[in-house]
Amino acid sequence: MQPSIFNKQIPLTGRDDLFLMNMFTDSQLVVSPDVAELLKRVGATPDLVETLSESEQAALRELAEHGFVVENREAEWSAVDRFFRDVREDASELRLTVLTTMQCNFACDYCFQGDHGDYNDTAEKMSLATADRVCDWVEMQLDELGSSQFGLTFFGGEPLLNQPVMYAMAERLWRATRRRGVDMRINVITNGLLLTPDVVDRLEPFGLHSIKITLDGDQEAHDRMRPLRGGQGTFERIIANIQRVAHRCNIAIGGNFVEDTVDSYPALLDFLKAQDFADRLVKVSFKPVIREKAATATPGLIPLTAVGADGAALGGTCMTSAGSGAGSVCDSCNLLETKMSELREETKKRGFETLDGVHMGPCDIHRRHSNTIGPDGSIYACPGFTGERTAAIGHISNALEERHHRSAADFESLAAWKSCGDCAFIPVCAGGCSVASHSEQGDMHKPTCHKDSMESALVSFAQEAAAQLM
Ligand code: SF4
Ligand code: SF4
Repeated sequence: MQPSIFNKQIPLTGRDDLFLMNMFTDSQLVVSPDVAELLKRVGATPDLVETLSESEQAALRELAEHGFVVENREAEWSAVDRFFRDVREDASELRLTVLTTMQCNFACDYCFQGDHGDYNDTAEKMSLATADRVCDWVEMQLDELGSSQFGLTFFGGEPLLNQPVMYAMAERLWRATRRRGVDMRINVITNGLLLTPDVVDRLEPFGLHSIKITLDGDQEAHDRMRPLRGGQGTFERIIANIQRVAHRCNIAIGGNFVEDTVDSYPALLDFLKAQDFADRLVKVSFKPVIREKAATATPGLIPLTAVGADGAALGGTCMTSAGSGAGSVCDSCNLLETKMSELREETKKRGFETLDGVHMGPCDIHRRHSNTIGPDGSIYACPGFTGERTAAIGHISNALEERHHRSAADFESLAAWKSCGDCAFIPVCAGGCSVASHSEQGDMHKPTCHKDSMESALVSFAQEAAAQLM
């Protein structure tokens, strides 16, 4: 018998008891110090069971039932390998992020995409013919996998710049999933400028679940960070748009902060709390702007623009609004030590649902049946790699080239956590964001570690979970 390597023990404020959590089984217990002491003796004391009283034996049984005590290390690591294999092969839900276009109507300061120079003249846009072929591919996948759920996320660029493709896909795939008895949900990740009741009318009958909108701080900060090309602010119009649709669908708010905007977020939270639609916000979460690897990059920020090993920008999709607000795409990117923790607490204080900072993964890159499709029909393992053609793992035409096979094999072998020793967070982190690893370290197979952020989130999580358990 051994204590699990995935155990975490957190002292509870103002009490002698401890919060015990196993990051693999997700078991959570509030225990007295003698039970914690007993756990320490497991594995360290030969023939321990014979020396224990009946009540101690009962406590040990309970600890084992919840995964705090395991047979041996080998068995535990085998279980972890099985877990990651199951995550990879899970076919119960087919998840697809479709980039309807790489064009964007914003000219955000921190993003190379969007309405800068002649970018939008050349940026790709999915045609209706390609959208139709994507639907063929989805139907084929559904039949092959027998999935009972289908999650479709529209993303970009700015997805609402190509609404015909959204509506055509939503309608056709809704019919396809009805015929197969598959549950379908649509999420949209948008900057919110073109969000109208008409958009909701068009998607609502086809499984619209949530719309995630990005606000980069209070009005002053947001208008500075996310202006139109002519420098006009966008905050007021986005808020007005949310007001017009919030009673009809779930709204999630995301935001990207940099050092000189982070302090405006409490004001944004106060503003949101005062709106009529406050109780319609299903999730509010913020993350740092991801910057490209450069001498000028702010230390500690995850690069947004993924760069290849040669240092050239990937030109991938804008990751700043990634995350559906429903727990899928890229919510795991939301990691940055102190500021992240502070903003999470501020968000909770105002009664908004947010990420707990502990259950952050494994992210969708580890799921074989979660893919991103670019405007030309190329298939990618996650949105962060969409700008680099060589990172495509396939194409909806199924006419695969050698480079697709090579890339698919490379993504298949992702297992950065294998370099993480016996870190207790492995089951919920999996070694961090592979896009960040690629960007910051030039190797997606290396871990990108934000352990301090998870440790601090766990302290807060423990106090709240313990209060509910008591
Ligand atoms: S690798 Fe990074 S960008 Fe890609 S899905 Fe995971 S967390 Fe998101
Ligand atoms: S990246 Fe860091 S926190 Fe994540 S599993 Fe590895 S060591 Fe742990």
